[in-house]
Amino acid sequence: MSELAYKRTNVYETADEAKLKAIFDYAKGYAAFLDAGKTEREACAYAEKAAVAAGYVPYEFGKKLQPGDKVYYNNRGKNLYLIRVGSEDVAKHGIRILASHIDSPRIDLKQVPLYEAEGIAFAKTHYYGGIRKYQWAAIPLALHGAVVKKNGEVIEVAIGEDENDPIFYISDLLPHLAAKQNAKPLGEGLGGEDLNIWLGNIPYTAAEDKKENTVKENLLKILHDKYGMVEADFLSAELSLVPAFKARDLGFDRGLIAAYGHDDRVCAYPSYTALFDTETDKTVMVVLADKEEIGSEGATGMQCAIFVDLIDAIADSFGVSSAAVRARSKCLSADVNAGYDPNFRDVCEPLNSTYLSHGAGLTKFTGSRGKGGSNDASAEFVGEVRKLFDDNGVIWQTGELGRVDVGGGGTVAKFIANMNIDTVDIGVPVISMHAPYEVVSKADVYECYRAFCSFIK
Ligand code: MN
Ligand code: MN
Repeated sequence: MSELAYKRTNVYETADEAKLKAIFDYAKGYAAFLDAGKTEREACAYAEKAAVAAGYVPYEFGKKLQPGDKVYYNNRGKNLYLIRVGSEDVAKHGIRILASHIDSPRIDLKQVPLYEAEGIAFAKTHYYGGIRKYQWAAIPLALHGAVVKKNGEVIEVAIGEDENDPIFYISDLLPHLAAKQNAKPLGEGLGGEDLNIWLGNIPYTAAEDKKENTVKENLLKILHDKYGMVEADFLSAELSLVPAFKARDLGFDRGLIAAYGHDDRVCAYPSYTALFDTETDKTVMVVLADKEEIGSEGATGMQCAIFVDLIDAIADSFGVSSAAVRARSKCLSADVNAGYDPNFRDVCEPLNSTYLSHGAGLTKFTGSRGKGGSNDASAEFVGEVRKLFDDNGVIWQTGELGRVDVGGGGTVAKFIANMNIDTVDIGVPVISMHAPYEVVSKADVYECYRAFCSFIK
């Protein structure tokens, strides 16, 4: 190949013994984060604990920040901001921001979920984020979340992760009777109201009146005995069904990791570990956002004013203009991209796809139908990031989500860029994105971490 031509680099092909070990060691820490953080609440708590261990202390609005300060803001237990204040002048150099999200597609319980049908107790659900519904049937599901009782007590729930826990389930048809369902388009195989969770089927035998709702009665008794809950407590609960799978190495060579929720914990973990591991004079902010999968709305989403409020707080501490700080800040919007899958070539455009084990994937623009809804990063900013990565020996590549006009998607990038901050998307290529079990390359997770380290250094 000519020296003049562009070629992607395979991380595994070029890694020496020491780097290979670093890649595999890093993946272990990442897998532990995945298993402990299957919801935004759990991921937020896990990262907060890591931050405390790294010397970060809670920030309260009104407090003046000084160079050397390491603070965090836990926004409602679902969204974490980590800030390290550098010695560099923020009015001149701005803030380096790494923004990822810790919510993942899943299946949420409705507020009045419980019912019984022909001797089976079920829960009604409303799915969260873009899922292919048929993929969530006939797999073990775990129940995670929080129930807020009338007296204000919060019950944290995580059932189905321990080997001895029960799991939950969505049923599907047997092939013998599925002729009619098989003839439907794939997207209509299971409807939104078909995603009913199997909760139990032993009737409450001690009941005086066993005419109806006996299995549901039994369920209510178990919930009351175990958690002190009554049915109305579901009204003020956030309970989610997530796959009960643990993160596992994939393949004989163990180069890949299969897990639930790579999108986007695969960027969240490298973001905060890069912050802890990198010595720098710069002021750095790491955002672990919630609600990305449903549009980044709300008090814990990337569109919440708290993002700018925290930048204002940094600017105020030094008596400088927040607008000046934002104008000079730079952000990597850290989110996954679709990895090239040779089994589904027809949706990929091979020149502009991200390939597994070819490093961090930079995405200049996302969107759909003519880049619609996208933050299209400037050539200048991409050029700056390109030089930075190349100078630091980071292996990276570029790619779009898929072929033009086949589909599309978005990230938090535009919400940050809208605040007058140069932003570009970068992340890890994922196979089977939004499925209950997604796949990434350990090599790409590690290169993403290295990319983030070089960006904040
Ligand atoms: Mn994402
Ligand atoms: Mn997503």
